[in-house]
Amino acid sequence: MELLHLKKLDLKDKKVFIRCDFNVPMDEFGNISDDRRIRSAIATINYCLDMDCAVILASHLGRPKGEVVEKYSLAPVARRLQQLLKRHVELAPGVVDDATLKLAHELPRHEVLLLENLRFEAGETKDDEELSHKLASMAEFYVNDAFGVSHRAHASVHGITKFFDNEHKAAGFLLEREINFFGKLINNPVRPFAAIVGGSKVSGKLEALVNLLPKVDKIFIGGGMAFTFLKQMGYDIGASLVEDELLDEAQNIMDQAKALGVKFYLPVDVVAADKFAEDAVSKIVTAQEIPNGWMGLDIGPATVRLYREGLNDVQTVLWNGPMGVYEMEKFARGSSKIAHFVADSYATTVVGGGDTADLVQRVGVDDEMSFISTGGGASLELLEGKTLPGVAPLMVKIDEEA
Ligand code: AMP
Repeated sequence: MELLHLKKLDLKDKKVFIRCDFNVPMDEFGNISDDRRIRSAIATINYCLDMDCAVILASHLGRPKGEVVEKYSLAPVARRLQQLLKRHVELAPGVVDDATLKLAHELPRHEVLLLENLRFEAGETKDDEELSHKLASMAEFYVNDAFGVSHRAHASVHGITKFFDNEHKAAGFLLEREINFFGKLINNPVRPFAAIVGGSKVSGKLEALVNLLPKVDKIFIGGGMAFTFLKQMGYDIGASLVEDELLDEAQNIMDQAKALGVKFYLPVDVVAADKFAEDAVSKIVTAQEIPNGWMGLDIGPATVRLYREGLNDVQTVLWNGPMGVYEMEKFARGSSKIAHFVADSYATTVVGGGDTADLVQRVGVDDEMSFISTGGGASLELLEGKTLPGVAPLMVKIDEEA
């Protein structure tokens, strides 16, 4: 199987709909804190403009849940795109309302129209056929360059592909790069292969953890998700983040790791705080003894040393999810130390996920990583060996394509 290539489409002078992933992290004032995802899409957009196309761009941002929510408007993205493309980018008033459809239909070549947040439409996350059809009606060609959402069967990623035949749809350059990279990584990782998994919740990454177990040699757990495991081990976790309904599952993962001979590392100490705030009182405590009412918000120094030891001989590292609440300086130290260590290692280092990409950029080691993926969930699903719903319709058998 092979991806449909953008360069094989007969795009000259045509209208192209490009599904991008402009779901960028923003600070509390609405400023874009990491524009990697926007920069990553520029090559595909410029290629289409160079082919004298009219370009319609679409993305989601955050989770407005099917309603128009001002703070999730793509206006800041339109401004950043304009700077990066060095040309005017028109922000549509909506997604598929009459005025937007008219703008799309009348869009002249060399012009760029950015639709408003796709998730202002409830049908987007439901893979709604009517919405897919309306989006498809805007252009003659469809290009998916949104790796970060290609593991979701959403209208602009999955449903829409039905309205284009193989001569009229393709993967963008970013999507192609990501798929090719992870393809190689799954088939032939240089061992030992370690996964560092952090972030807030076990629930979001549970399946990924289960599926990663047979593929990796070591797993290092950090972030809020560690406490579900620590609680299951009978430790006092105080008021730390926990998912009680997943305690059995946590045990199951630890049992499986043991059965498979995968080294499973959990924090041995944490930075505990009396509240979830930058001005909290904090102290370093062992993972066994987090005081009542206190919450673990970062891994502690002993854990950093332990994880460094464990990572020493590793040849491939996949990192998904921060080790602590890295957005607050006080609880960023664990993530920062691990980031420096991973960046300095001679291993192939792969960072997945918006938060982790943001983190390594803040720490200033993004250039030293081997590969920074624009998709966290999508990269995990690829590594699990799943076919992504947004990618499958863009795959052809090699002889079929010839
Ligand atoms: P995720 O989206 O699941 O990758 O989670 C990323 C978020 O997890 C970041 O915003 C972190 O602030 C948060 N996080 C990391 N460690 C903790 C922790 N110990 N307690 C609460 N939140 C955490």
